[in-house]
Amino acid sequence: MQRIYLKGIHKDFYREIELIASLFFEEVKVTDSLAEPVDAVLQFSIKEANPASVTVLLSEPSGEQTWQAFHQQEIQETDVKAYRKRLKKLISYTVLQVFQQATGIIQSWGILTGVRPTKLLHSMLLKGSKATEAAQVLQREYLLQPEKIEILQEIIERQLTMLPDLYSLDREVSLYIGIPFCPTKCAYCTFPAYAIQGRNGSVEEFLAGLHEEIAAIGNWLKERNLPVTTIYYGGGTPTSISATQMDALFTQMKRYIPTYNQVREITVEAGRPDTLEPEKLALLKQWQIGRISINPQSFKEETLKLIGRHHTVRETLEKYQLAREMGISNINMDLIIGLPNESMEEFQNSLEVIQELKPESLTVHTLSFKRGSIMTQNKEKYRVAKRDEIEEMVRMARVWAKQAGYVPYYLYRQKNILGNQENVGYAFPGQESLYNIIIMEEKQTIIGLGCGAVSKMVAPQTGKIKRWPNPKEPQAYINTYQQHIHGKLQTLDEMFGFSILA
Ligand code: SF4
Repeated sequence: MQRIYLKGIHKDFYREIELIASLFFEEVKVTDSLAEPVDAVLQFSIKEANPASVTVLLSEPSGEQTWQAFHQQEIQETDVKAYRKRLKKLISYTVLQVFQQATGIIQSWGILTGVRPTKLLHSMLLKGSKATEAAQVLQREYLLQPEKIEILQEIIERQLTMLPDLYSLDREVSLYIGIPFCPTKCAYCTFPAYAIQGRNGSVEEFLAGLHEEIAAIGNWLKERNLPVTTIYYGGGTPTSISATQMDALFTQMKRYIPTYNQVREITVEAGRPDTLEPEKLALLKQWQIGRISINPQSFKEETLKLIGRHHTVRETLEKYQLAREMGISNINMDLIIGLPNESMEEFQNSLEVIQELKPESLTVHTLSFKRGSIMTQNKEKYRVAKRDEIEEMVRMARVWAKQAGYVPYYLYRQKNILGNQENVGYAFPGQESLYNIIIMEEKQTIIGLGCGAVSKMVAPQTGKIKRWPNPKEPQAYINTYQQHIHGKLQTLDEMFGFSILA
């Protein structure tokens, strides 16, 4: 834990400073108290005039070494809130620079600490900026490195090619169905995923609730004449439930979801190869599920054991082959950079196997130590690659993807992601997942049904966003799903401007 003592700055700005400092150190606490020893001192001198300026002096507590950064900028905004927002950005900018000097680490994402950097670029383009102007702003004001700007631009272009109506999809919705079961729990996982074995009763009860939720949401969509753009079954691993249960679920969806036959894309996460049997694959084909995910994460046996996947490399390859033989024509695979004991060599090997398999899309995640995962709770047991190597692997994936004919089409970042890097979805052009674009760019309402499903409601016209999380835990869902249906539909009515249901 790095304790950083702050001087000469209002508490309102502490959060920004902590976020920027966290890009350089694993755990950071900013404080205005010297009651406990501190590791560094940040002294600010801020001029709230126009131009506004920020000077930051970073020093060791002994005062032996110091670093200084200064930045000033015209702030056009006169509204107090907007002015403050710009000032926060200016502070982040200066703090980043002083830490970059002190550590020698250049942050490729500059001062961007949020999950969805592509949203920023979309909003600039929506406000009328040209691509080149937007790129200059990202470099000048946000300190992004050219390679990150380039990937953002490529992604936006692919997104608008695949969804030319992305900015006007707000009068349709997409659906997310959360099935909270997996064969076992992976060590890095924080999704709602409960080991399915021995849970027969509660699986049935959960599914009964889910069927009710599907009927209620389906009726609501029908009454309000709202079409569905995409459907995504995630979790957990939806293919953990039995073939009979899957069949009943798809039947219920078809029965209640209006415009079901016109839905542009349906994806089922079949992430764990150990859940895939011929009968289930036949069902996916029969129900015209256009896209599935079979996720190797790594092609090294020891790694799979270490992270608790409980399936073998061979099983991944066999199930992939089987899915192909059974006619599944759009398969995504996930890899993770930075898994324990893995370096460039193992990752290179994983990419080579992917090159042979040629899935239609590949999502390259960078490992993140999420709070609450088994891995984070036992962090000392896992040895992961260093920052530089992680950066190299991310770069390697990008170069490899280009050569193999894949294009990047969505990107997101997470807290505590190794090397402050990102997760990138690559696909063969034309095979990009529309749902992934929609969820990242937050231009359309996604209604979440089932366990751990978070509805994200985007108000047409204003773009205002409200979240409605369903319970994560199956028993909590079983106990409360009816209240959630009711509350969710009321909120949806408000967000879409429909009259509130009696
Ligand atoms: S398969 Fe996915 S959802 Fe299931 S435990 Fe592993 S990471 Fe979590």
